[in-house]
Amino acid sequence: MQNIISLFLVFMLFITPSNSEIEKASKTTETKKIVYLTFDDAPGGKVTKDMLKTLKDNNVNATFFLIGEQIDNNQQEIIKQMVSDGNAVGLHSYTHDHCKLYGPNGDFFKEMAECQNSIKNACGVTTNILRFPFGCNSSYFKLTKSMLNKIHSKNLKVYEWNVDSTDGLYPKLSPSKIAKRAQSTKKTAVVLMHSGYNNKNSAAALNEVIQYYKKNGYTFKTISDDTEELYRIIKKK
Ligand SMILES: [Zn+2]
Repeated sequence: MQNIISLFLVFMLFITPSNSEIEKASKTTETKKIVYLTFDDAPGGKVTKDMLKTLKDNNVNATFFLIGEQIDNNQQEIIKQMVSDGNAVGLHSYTHDHCKLYGPNGDFFKEMAECQNSIKNACGVTTNILRFPFGCNSSYFKLTKSMLNKIHSKNLKVYEWNVDSTDGLYPKLSPSKIAKRAQSTKKTAVVLMHSGYNNKNSAAALNEVIQYYKKNGYTFKTISDDTEELYRIIKKK
């Protein structure tokens, strides 16, 4: 009997995957290609509505960094729809005014808190993820370690992008050019697009962007506060 038990144990050793095999398997899932479609400056009326429809028709979700003042301009329904469709929402300030955010009398955190309120009032969600208007290294503002610490002390998290469709700078760019510039071969692509009132061409480009990432085997994800942050601190010379 003893022998049979030992034999069984030896047998089990061979068929049970070793720890390193389990690790390998989980690494394989970790290395799958992921795309985060992200939109700044929403809600932008019909532009945002059209984008929500395109996302829904394709059965994918995105992350929208919202402007509070625009939500309060009678666009709460769009935000409700956005969230009930499974999209993520984040902070992009209340006014998007660089003076009010970064000027000598500006208050970045007041702007973000007001935006958080507008989102909460519209859809009941309290979000802690944020994207800096104009990015965190613009001509208006450069992210520092102390600012980052302050952001983290308020439980906020920063998300930049690593693929720029350039539709912020060039909203009139043709939809096919926007779609082309939104493409990437990165393992994890965080694509920047815009969904403000003047981003009609981005709405027209979105289906092509989605088709590209689908065809290339990407999984679509939304940003949550579990997502690893993405930012860059440029050291002063
Ligand atoms: Zn913006």
